[in-house]
Amino acid sequence: MPPPVTIPVTISATTPIRPQPGILYIALYQGGASNIPGHGAPLKLSSNENPFGPSPGAVEAMAAAVLESNRYPSTDHGELRGAIADIHGLKAEQIICGAGSDEVIHWLNQAYAGPGDEVLYTQHGFGMYPIAALAAGAMPVQVAERDRVVDVDTLIEALTEDTRLIFIANPSNPCATMLASDEVERLADAVPDQCLLILDGAYVEFAQGHDGGKALVETRNNVVMTRTFSKVYGLGGLRVGYGYGPRHVIDTLNRIRGPFNLSGIALAGAEAAARDVDWVAECTRINADERARLVGGFRQLGIACDDSHANFVLARFADEATADAANAHLKSDGIIVRATKSYGLPHCLRVTVGRPEDNTRVLASLSAMVAT
Ligand SMILES: *Cc1c(COP(=O)(O)O)cnc(C)c1O
Repeated sequence: MPPPVTIPVTISATTPIRPQPGILYIALYQGGASNIPGHGAPLKLSSNENPFGPSPGAVEAMAAAVLESNRYPSTDHGELRGAIADIHGLKAEQIICGAGSDEVIHWLNQAYAGPGDEVLYTQHGFGMYPIAALAAGAMPVQVAERDRVVDVDTLIEALTEDTRLIFIANPSNPCATMLASDEVERLADAVPDQCLLILDGAYVEFAQGHDGGKALVETRNNVVMTRTFSKVYGLGGLRVGYGYGPRHVIDTLNRIRGPFNLSGIALAGAEAAARDVDWVAECTRINADERARLVGGFRQLGIACDDSHANFVLARFADEATADAANAHLKSDGIIVRATKSYGLPHCLRVTVGRPEDNTRVLASLSAMVAT
């Protein structure tokens, strides 16, 4: 059965025209807020964006590409795939680029899951997984985590003969926790042949020593990884992500991909960003120092949090009311963080790691609140 939500009256009462099954059960995605009434330029730490922006080389490449906007862009994204392959040691023919990894997540559902099929994702999993499953007419099935970490045994127990897709984000969002590589491998071993395991690596650059599961993709027929230019590359506004998978999957997804799904500006920007490895290294280094400072600072204030493997920290408060009060207090200081009620974590706030001076402001604001 679909999740128990009410179909909007405005749609059901006014017209006999009906969308495909499942679509009206989708709760609209709530993005991180970006303004506070009365605050001119708030500090936005709600969407896990890179506070330093994109690489200057990417900005230059995009500016140059603007002048070519009369031309249709590449349909096969050959240069961008080549750059990604070079940098990460991947096989270019096994890469598919989408308008953000969101688009890749949609294709996977559209191609492999439909009415009667189940799509597994975990308790505090990324909001796009159930949205994309429902959009394809499939049933999203949420599986419990263990202390905010993906639990392989519970996932294995939830497998049925109708399971077609399993999504895990590693590092996870919003928990910032990480499933160890041997556990990911144990999960991959347990996934039946007719089922795809998708490893969402949106934050993998921030997790030292992890590559998103490249070897699992290359040694199996049913593992796909997704990655994005939206996070450490500082290009969330450009909308470029990609999937890396077995050839049969990439071939299938290419059949439903729009031929011009990425603009010439997006292709140029992402390619230059991929090649600027120094920018990524520097941003990652600063992030690691700063998230440690945030985690330490939170704990000193009596706010619990797990070690973060990403570019954000999930702050856990005593209860929902305390989290709401902290959110209101930060807002009154011009700071926007992400409430995580929609992720089943009403007592938490997700705080993106900002520039050093931003993080100092966050800690000062919360410390003033705790003091009162
Ligand atoms: C941000 C994020 C993405 C990336 O989405 P894009 O469409 O590439 O911007 C994917 N998965 C998770 C878990 C994320 O947090």
